[in-house]
Amino acid sequence: MKEGGVYCSPACGNDCTYEAFDRANRMAKELAKSLTAKTGRQWHPNVWENLGWHWSAVCEGSRLTVSPLNHGVDDGYHAFISMCDEPTIGGGEFVASGPTAYHAVKAVVDKYKEDLAHRAECGKALPSKLME
Ligand SMILES: [Zn+2]
Repeated sequence: MKEGGVYCSPACGNDCTYEAFDRANRMAKELAKSLTAKTGRQWHPNVWENLGWHWSAVCEGSRLTVSPLNHGVDDGYHAFISMCDEPTIGGGEFVASGPTAYHAVKAVVDKYKEDLAHRAECGKALPSKLME
């Protein structure tokens, strides 16, 4: 759908620009690269169109993703851990935000760890016979 700088599918119809598409790709690659360096795990760039070009980075072999809060402006990131087999459904998710992608990722993993600790604590109060 490239036509005079417009790069947009009929399903979107927002007259997204090729420039925005190109930027989303660059930002996604940068995001994945920096998180790969900071977390010691491989992250992959992800770009999609939905009334504008959006991007995220996905951590390989896990259900951890991170994307900017506002796809035009640098005002922070949110990170998700999906509990669903199909992450796009988005059920049972952990969500956290932070000023940088790394902060957001760290925050959502901390939330997950807190939740695990809380569940373990609740489990201790259950009748031990039923927990066998
Ligand atoms: Zn579009």
